[in-house]
Amino acid sequence: MSAEGSGHAVVLGAGIAGMLTARVLSDHFARVTLVERDPLDEEGSRRGVPQARHLHGLLDRGRTIMEELYPGFTARVAGLGAPTAEALLGTRWYLGGLRVTPTSTGLTSLMATRPLLESVIRDHTLAIPGVTLRDRTTAKALAGTAREVTGVVVSRDDDPRTLAADLVVDATGRASRASEWLRALEAPVPPQDRVEVDLGYASRFYRRSPGQLDDHSSVIISTGPNGRGGGAIRVEDDRWHVTLAGMLGDHPPTDPAGFAAFAATLAAPDIHGIIITAAAPLDDIVPHRFRHSIRRRYERCDAPIDGFLALGDAVCSFNPLYAQGMSVAAQQALALRDCLAATGTKDLPARFYAAAGRFVDVAWQMSTGSDLRYPGVVGDRTARVRVTNAYVGAAHRAAHTDPKVARTFLRVANLVEPPAALLHPAMAGRILLRGSRNHR
Ligand SMILES: Cc1cc2nc3c(=O)[nH]c(=O)nc-3n(C[C@H](O)[C@H](O)[C@H](O)COP(=O)(O)OP(=O)(O)OC[C@H]3O[C@@H](n4cnc5c(N)ncnc54)[C@H](O)[C@@H]3O)c2cc1C
Repeated sequence: MSAEGSGHAVVLGAGIAGMLTARVLSDHFARVTLVERDPLDEEGSRRGVPQARHLHGLLDRGRTIMEELYPGFTARVAGLGAPTAEALLGTRWYLGGLRVTPTSTGLTSLMATRPLLESVIRDHTLAIPGVTLRDRTTAKALAGTAREVTGVVVSRDDDPRTLAADLVVDATGRASRASEWLRALEAPVPPQDRVEVDLGYASRFYRRSPGQLDDHSSVIISTGPNGRGGGAIRVEDDRWHVTLAGMLGDHPPTDPAGFAAFAATLAAPDIHGIIITAAAPLDDIVPHRFRHSIRRRYERCDAPIDGFLALGDAVCSFNPLYAQGMSVAAQQALALRDCLAATGTKDLPARFYAAAGRFVDVAWQMSTGSDLRYPGVVGDRTARVRVTNAYVGAAHRAAHTDPKVARTFLRVANLVEPPAALLHPAMAGRILLRGSRNHR
């Protein structure tokens, strides 16, 4: 992975999306500079990514892309103590209160905290020749004209300066201020879609006791009709990372008794069982409020400005219940790599947003469509959404007993197969038969 190209690219934000972007840009640009507001030489959680204290499931599509970009990634994370398991055989998943039937899926679950995933990706990325990091440095504005971005104004210790760049990529996350920066240049600003979910998370680490969960490595209890759900994954250092979730303002409490009581109301008892039998809690319970999913529709800008791209949560921040964010950021990074490999930076923004938008669309439709199952979520329940949700409900029921449906359903949810895989005639037959409400 040596820098063979020419020119300078600047990536704003050194989260997962920013690192993956720097990695693919290093194939094309001689120099790639990452600009990050937080200090990155300190251990532990950091201000810029409060979500890092909550459970982060890595879908298999995201993992395989990371493996492709950083050969040996999975083994490296596993070598640092993160368990791996075949999804559904070594893990449990409950939909509608019933367990999805254990079967071979060909999917690897890599169970690590977000700080561990991020630190491995960061170490690999910063080892690439030509990639440098400026941490403790805040991006403040874009430099250029209404047609072209030529650099970025950054500030460290209140000392602003302009970094000239051939390409600036915004990976500053869901609170991105790029719209403001583009408006200041009088450049096109992306329209936004929002879906209000008022989701609350509360999370805590526990020391694992031997034999818990029959030695399965994780359990996910998907949100049921009451909007409550949760997950527990066994992460590095033999800990459980437990996250409870509640939709539409019904947020899990942060006192230990309330936390355990909330866990007892989930559609399956497994997480409550872990909490009450764990050897010891290891920290305080931490809350997080996620008010809305947001999608900034850069692909709808008539003439996107040259020299500037956005990706990751800065483009689309999904309801975290579906664990899509890191994997879609990885898909966007691959789309960028392919666009650069095809015809370089010529018309890059329009080509990139068209290519990346296809992945974002799939995940956005899956997650917002699911959110619209809840009457309290405001949104357009088109006939397509209603039919899809009825069909997905049948697939859930069929997955409790039919291994083929379970396998395909999980592969689609992991972004490894397209949703159309569930519509294949043989699959549709199984779903409609086994998923009918009268089927036993
Ligand atoms: C509660 C919660 C749970 C989640 N769970 C999952 C999950 O289970 N699975 C999953 O795949 N995804 C999950 N996600 C989403 C996931 O965290 C992100 O989609 C993914 O990490 C990509 O984010 P990002 O890199 O685009 O942005 P971020 O992770 O937000 O990183 C942005 C970076 O930019 C820096 N920054 C911000 N502003 C500036 C500035 N002006 N100048 C310089 N630097 C700046 C920040 O410090 C940060 O380092 C979850 C999200 C939330 C909120």
